[in-house]
This record gives sequence, C-alpha cells and structure tokens, in this order.
Amino acid sequence: MKLLIKRFTAVCLVVSVAVLVACSTDDATDSATNSEITAQNCVVGAPLVGRAPRVVATVAPITSLVAQVVGDTGASIVGLVPEGTNSHTFEPPPSAAAVLEQADVVFMNGLVLEEPTKDLAQSNIGTAAVLCELGTFVLPESEWLYDFSFPKEGGKPNPHLWTNPPMAKQYAEVVLQVLSGLDPTNAAQYQSNFNLVAEQIDQLDAAMAVATLTIPATARLLLTYHDAYGYFAKHYGWTVVGAIQPSSFDEPTPKDVADLIAQVRERKVRAIFGSEVFPSSILDQIGAETSTRYIDVLRDDDLPGVSGDDAHSWQGLMQFNFITMIEALGGDASALRALSMALPVADSARYTQ
Ligand SMILES: [Zn+2]
Repeated sequence: MKLLIKRFTAVCLVVSVAVLVACSTDDATDSATNSEITAQNCVVGAPLVGRAPRVVATVAPITSLVAQVVGDTGASIVGLVPEGTNSHTFEPPPSAAAVLEQADVVFMNGLVLEEPTKDLAQSNIGTAAVLCELGTFVLPESEWLYDFSFPKEGGKPNPHLWTNPPMAKQYAEVVLQVLSGLDPTNAAQYQSNFNLVAEQIDQLDAAMAVATLTIPATARLLLTYHDAYGYFAKHYGWTVVGAIQPSSFDEPTPKDVADLIAQVRERKVRAIFGSEVFPSSILDQIGAETSTRYIDVLRDDDLPGVSGDDAHSWQGLMQFNFITMIEALGGDASALRALSMALPVADSARYTQ
C-alpha cells in the first residue's frame, strides 16, 4: 500500500490485488484557486490492463525526467513542446490532439505554464487518463514565487521549479508514483529507474552547492533575460537581481531598463545572462552601458546535443547552465565539471523538434 500525502491536498492511492482506488480531499487551508488547479491532479483511477502506458509530457526537461523513470519498461513517451520554443506562449498544433487522445497520462509542469496544451488535453484525453501537473502538485501555494516576469496580479506564479534539483527530484518521484499506479507490474522497474536518476540529481545538487561556495555571497547575483531561476536561487542562497522579460513577453520599457542598469552598477553584478531561446538586444545594451560581461548561452528549455546523446537530458541541461553561471561569476565549477552525467537509464522519448 502506498500513501502519498501533500500539504495542500491529501491524495491517497490505495493499491489492492488488482484495483487501485484513488481519492482526493482538500484541507481547510486550501484556497479556492489552488483547489481548482489541483483538483484530481495526478490521481490514478485504475491500473491499465494488458498493455504498457502511453505517456505524454510537455517541455523537454520534464520529458527527459519522465523518460528516465519510464526507462525500458515498454511505456511509450512523447514530448509535445518543441525544444527551443517559448513554452510560455506555445500553442499546440491540431496534430497534438491525436497524441493526447491516445494518452494514458499527461505530465505537465502546471502552475499555469502550459494553458493552451492543458486546454487541448482536457478536451481530448480519455475519461480514465491522468492529467498530472507536477509543479502544481509538489509546491504548496504558500511557496509559489512571484517576481517581475511573473507578478502576483498576473495570477501566474513563476513555474520554473525544475531548475532547482530537489524540486526536479520531487517531480520524478510523482512520476514514479503515477506510473506505478497505472502499471503496477513494472513498479519495481520504475522504482529502480527513479533511484538511479535521483542519485544523479543529488550529485548535481551537492556539486552545485560546492561550486556556489566558491563565489562570495555578495556576488551570487543573477540578472537574466528569462526569469527561470527563482526557486534555484532560493535553494542555493543566490539573489535574483532582476529579469528583463516582462510578464507580457514583450520588450521591457526604457524605465525598466534604466532601473536594471542602476542595479547592475550599484550591486557590482559580475555578469548578466541571456539565452538562445529568448534572443534580446536589451541585455547587450545593459552589458555595454555597465561594462558587464554578457553571456548569451543559457539554454532554458532547450536540451544540449541531439536526442540520444547523454547531454540531451535534464541533467545535461542543468550541468551546462550551472557551469555557465558559476564560471561567468568568477567561481570554480570543477565540482560540476567532474560529474559524469552519463544517463543512468535509457531515454526512449520522442521529442518534437
Ligand atoms: Zn520558462
């Protein structure tokens, strides 16, 4: 019997001989908004009979984590959001409806990241299929972060939990529970896949903590174009000085830019970061005006290499982004460079390009 209890929603998965019964109750502290978002989230109704699960995921880093828990159990997995696109504004093509229609489970980030995909999923998935918003599931509303790019009045919390390794591990653990519920005959295999992935996540987390200590606390400052490191910064004791991208995903106003330039000067920010997913001339301008290094290679949701490479994974992506940030801020990333991020479990996902 497995019991999975979250702070904001009590969810029970009761496994008997052949039937898995699910129930969900909201506790008294739950707000209306959150209970709407989390109602029936990640709850498995009954196990599949006689076939492997058909799994769908959204953004590439999450697809990678899910694929590694899936391993070679025979479950199929498709990632819906093409790499290198803006996942915050992505509208799924009509062809995605057919993929969703076949799905037994759809793993999304949630926290209002992929609403068009969620809408399409809700109108196309079968009645027994599981919709699982991982971020919404693991993070209580009291810990949601709001910031410049994701202001509270916009109603969308910062959704980037997966750049924080312990939260990525929580995602993988929920994936483990859901897949084991759907496909109990492979539960031991899912568990052993999860254990291998979790071990690598822990190693990456420990190495990042070591690398962080090589940068003075006052210099652990992040100014990025895309605001993807809020939970990461909280975990490692870094400070997000700001982000350039407004909640509208348009360009920032001249006043916003002037404020950031003032902050970069005042706090002696050592480097500012852009990404290939979100090209911007504004960071160039801030870098030039403040004589600060501008690093424009953070990859956001875009996994390094190509499908089949070890680096083409959540681990490869985080290792690359973390090394880039540590070294640009003058730190020593050797603990991160020393990690072997060879995939412990084969990834058979079909990634949309
Ligand atoms: Zn993002």
